[in-house]
Amino acid sequence: MSVADAILRGDRQALARGLSQVEALGAEAVALLDAVWSRTGRARRVGITGPPGAGKSTLVARLVRLFREADRKVGVVAVDPSSAFTGGALLGDRHRMSREAFDEQVFVRSLASRGSLGGLSRAAPAALDLMDAAGFDLLLVETVGVGQVEIEVAATADSVVVVLSPESGDAVQAMKAGLLEIADVLCINKSDREGADALAASLESMLDRREAPWRPPVVRTNALESAAALHEALAAHAAYLDENGHLEERRNEGFTRRLRNLVADLVAEAVLGGAGPEIDQAVADVSAGRRSILGAARRAAEAIVP
Ligand code: GDP
Repeated sequence: MSVADAILRGDRQALARGLSQVEALGAEAVALLDAVWSRTGRARRVGITGPPGAGKSTLVARLVRLFREADRKVGVVAVDPSSAFTGGALLGDRHRMSREAFDEQVFVRSLASRGSLGGLSRAAPAALDLMDAAGFDLLLVETVGVGQVEIEVAATADSVVVVLSPESGDAVQAMKAGLLEIADVLCINKSDREGADALAASLESMLDRREAPWRPPVVRTNALESAAALHEALAAHAAYLDENGHLEERRNEGFTRRLRNLVADLVAEAVLGGAGPEIDQAVADVSAGRRSILGAARRAAEAIVP
């Protein structure tokens, strides 16, 4: 049986193998993803992002339990930019919540960026596609909301949670990083700490100035105790997506964005692969003071694609 068939039948070892292929992003991954693509689309995807230390991993572990209580099959992809290895490091080690603590209906995978954020932006959504095809119907993708790539990965989800804590800097910083733009739910975690009221007030006033069909609810959690408020807010957003074709529209926009970015990357790689002399010439012109960087870049681009 092929790896693709085994994954579609729910074989966990095959899924683990498939995810490694997807992480490597080689020809095997492309064939595998093509083979399972028609079986994707059933899972709801939830992105969870925010500054380091805000409590994302703790919340994810709690959410997994709540979704299991609702009898959902849960897949988790944790994108860990600092980790040099894969295999559930976040949920496993940091919270002493080993994967054995979850049942067979939960699958956790962590993806390390291994220094290549470009690779991560392709691999992480594709890993979710594979888990979707494998029959997990609720997918969580956790990323650190610092770099643009990590924020974009979370934004590929159907519902995006931005987690902030009173101690994680102010709301203005989150806004500057583009986090408020992508949020469907704003979660103030560590609400047991001082400053939660002030943070909530400034988030609400920022939302007042924003016009959008969906106003993100601002919920408060203490992840050490419960994530029930977040779970409820996600249910409300899921219900909103189910109305008036919002989900389909959002997914089509997401496909378009992912496709455009990928095609642009692949075309750039293909073109630049054979463009050594033009680039060398541009560098020489800039170094010798003959052209500005912008001027040299334009000239090189025109020489490569007339
Ligand atoms: P992440 O980096 O965003 O994934 O944050 P973690 O989930 O690793 O949490 C960072 C630290 O904050 C850990 O020591 C958690 O136990 C702690 N923590 C998480 N949520 C809360 C909370 O609601 N209140 C308090 N007081 N501590 C929390």
